[in-house]
Amino acid sequence: MVRPLVLGVADLLRRPGNQRDEELVVPLGGLEVLGSKVPDGEPVTLDLRLQSVNEGIVVTGTIAAPWEGECRRCLRAVRGTAEGRVQEIFEEHPVEGETFKLDGDRIDLEPLTRETVLLELPLAPLCQDDCAGLCPECGADRNTTDCGHTLEPSDDRWSALGELRFDD
Ligand SMILES: [Zn+2]
Ligand SMILES: [Zn+2]
Repeated sequence: MVRPLVLGVADLLRRPGNQRDEELVVPLGGLEVLGSKVPDGEPVTLDLRLQSVNEGIVVTGTIAAPWEGECRRCLRAVRGTAEGRVQEIFEEHPVEGETFKLDGDRIDLEPLTRETVLLELPLAPLCQDDCAGLCPECGADRNTTDCGHTLEPSDDRWSALGELRFDD
């Protein structure tokens, strides 16, 4: 099985301060949250600097992936890019939840990549900030259709949903 995100770092480990840049473009399956996902076959792009320190390897840079989903108000297809900055340590004895494993002279960037993309995928995407949504009476797309139904201006349930955060 090919694991394109497992990198050899023997050259870096020889001397603290050594560094190397890596640009990787790799399709990864199964990147999906409630409101959006990375389309099948579309790659994640990693633009990283690997640097040797006494304790291991420091990885800094950006991880980005295209996503697609449905506007939470009008259900229209929406696309965007999820991009996160990373700064992580890979060490021989990693601290659970804080650092990653340096396995001999190799590091596996896949767990970090998955974690970063999943955090950046929007849970409730919008086609545009002021999307008018669907008419609750007749289901018309109110961005394009004036169906004539008036809405209760006090009914703010949908915008409240938009503010929901699932972070803990
Ligand atoms: Zn919309
Ligand atoms: Zn209507």
